[in-house]
Amino acid sequence: VAGPDPPAPHDQDRLLGGLLSPAFDEQSCRSRYESFLYRRPSPFRPSTYLVERLRRYEARHKRCGPGAPLFNEAVEHLRSGRNAARSGCQYVVWTPINGLGNRMLSLASTFLYALLTNRVLLAHAPPEFDGLFCEPFPGSSWTLPANFPITDFAGIFTMGSPTSYKNMRQAGAVSGGDHSNVTADTLPAYVFLDLIQSYTDAAFCEADQRVLAKFNWMVVKSDVYFAAMFFLMPAYERELARLFPEKEAMFHHLARYLFHPSNDVWGIVRRYYGAYLARADERVGLQVRVFPEMPVPFENMYGQILRCSEQEGLLPKVALLRDDAANNNHSSAMASGRSRNHKLTSILVTSLFPDYYERIRGVYYANPTETGEYVEVHQPSHEREQRTEARGHNQRALAEMYLLSFCDRIVTTAVSTFGYIAHGLAGVRPWVLLRPPSPEAGVDPACVRSKTVEPCLQAPPRRMCGVAEGTDIGALVPYSRHCEDEHKGLKLF
Ligand code: GDP
Repeated sequence: VAGPDPPAPHDQDRLLGGLLSPAFDEQSCRSRYESFLYRRPSPFRPSTYLVERLRRYEARHKRCGPGAPLFNEAVEHLRSGRNAARSGCQYVVWTPINGLGNRMLSLASTFLYALLTNRVLLAHAPPEFDGLFCEPFPGSSWTLPANFPITDFAGIFTMGSPTSYKNMRQAGAVSGGDHSNVTADTLPAYVFLDLIQSYTDAAFCEADQRVLAKFNWMVVKSDVYFAAMFFLMPAYERELARLFPEKEAMFHHLARYLFHPSNDVWGIVRRYYGAYLARADERVGLQVRVFPEMPVPFENMYGQILRCSEQEGLLPKVALLRDDAANNNHSSAMASGRSRNHKLTSILVTSLFPDYYERIRGVYYANPTETGEYVEVHQPSHEREQRTEARGHNQRALAEMYLLSFCDRIVTTAVSTFGYIAHGLAGVRPWVLLRPPSPEAGVDPACVRSKTVEPCLQAPPRRMCGVAEGTDIGALVPYSRHCEDEHKGLKLF
C-alpha cells in the first residue's frame, strides 16, 4: 500500500520542515501557516525524530487533554486528594509569573519537560494571558478548563507551600533516603515544582526525577529557561541528542512550534509590517530595554548603541560622522543622489520609551548616509511601563517580539528575556548590548555578537546532583557555556 504523498516543497516551508501539524483550520489561526512568509528561511531544520515525537505528543494530548474521558478520570483522582497508583495520563500544569518573555521561556521549558517525561502540558491562563496565543495542539486545548479543581494558583503555589517538592521532602512526605521506594498511591494528589530564579526545588537529580515521575499531576512555576538544565542530566542526554542534534536551535524550534499569535495579535503584526517594514531591503531590529533596577541614563544608553553600531557596522553610517575632508566630499556626492543607491533600510526600534527612536530618527532626518541609502526608523509603541496584568499591553508586546523576529539583524539588550524571544523565533544570533556594572558606569565593549541562537538560562541552580560543591556548572558538558550577558548563566551551543 502506498503511503501518503510526500509534502509538496511549499508545504515543507509552510509547515517549517514538518515542525507544524497540517491538521489545523487555517483561518482560526492565520499566523501559524503565514509567519514563514515574513522571515528568511531558517538555517535550522527540525530532526525527523523531533517531528515524530511532536506528532506522538499531539496524539497523546488529544487522548488525555480537556474533554477526553481520561482527563475527567484524572481530574477525579486530583479531587480525591490522593495520587492514583495507575493513571492513563500524567500532566504538567504550567502557571505564569513575571513578564511575557519570562513566561514564554518557562512555558517552552515546561513543554520540553512534558515531552521528555511523557506528560501532557496544560496552561493555567489568567485573563491577561487570554487572547495572546492560538491553541498549539490540534483537536484539543492546552488551557485548563474553568471547572478545574485548583483555582487559587497565586495563593497555593508559593515558596513555603507544603505542596512544593522540597518542602514535601523536608517534611518526610516523600520519605527520606532512597526516594525510589515511595509507592505512588501514598503520595498527595499533586506536587508543585518551584523553579523560580531562587530554585526552591533543586529537583534536577535523578533520584528526585524518579519520585516526581510517580505524581500524575505536577504544577510548575518558573520564570527561567530551565530547558537548558536537562542537558546537564545524564538521564536525558540520549533523547535530547536525538530531538535536537543542533543544540543551539532548541528554543527556536520549540518556540516556532508552540507560540502562534492569535488572529488579533497577528492583525497588529501584519498591518504594521505591511505599512512600515515590507518595502525595506534590509531590516534592523533594535530592542532597547531599560530595566527599573538598572536605570541607565538615556545619554549613556544611546552612546552605547552608537558605539555598538560603529564597532559592528550595524546601523547605516551617516555622512556627518566622517570628519576627513576627502570623505566628506565623497559622501556629499553620494548624498546628492548621484550614488544611485536606492537601498532602503528600516530600523525597527522597540522600547518602553520613545527617546531612542526619536533621537535615531532625527539623526537620519537631518543627515545623509555615507552610501546614499535611505533609512526609515519606526517604533510601534512606547508603553512607558510594564503592565503584565493588561491584556492589550501583552498583545502589543507579543506583536513587537514577532516584528523584531522578522528583522535581518537584531540588536538586543543584555538579560532581557523579551529580546531572547525575538532572536530565538528568528533563529538569528543577536548583537547584545552589554550591561554596565552600575547605571552610570561605562561598558566596553558596548556589545558582543552572541555565539548562539539559544536564550540564556540566567539562574542555573547553585548545586547539581553528583557534582562537587563549587564546580563550575557552565563547564560540565562541552556544549554549554556561560552567557555573554550574564556570567553565571548557561547557554547551549
Ligand atoms: P524582560 O523583563 O526584558 O526580561 O522581558 P519580559 O517580557 O519578561 O518583561 C518585560 C515586559 O515589559 C514585556 O513583556 C512587556 O510587557 C513590557 N515591555 C518591555 N519592553 C517592551 C517593548 O519594547 N515593547 C512593548 N510593547 N512592551 C515592552
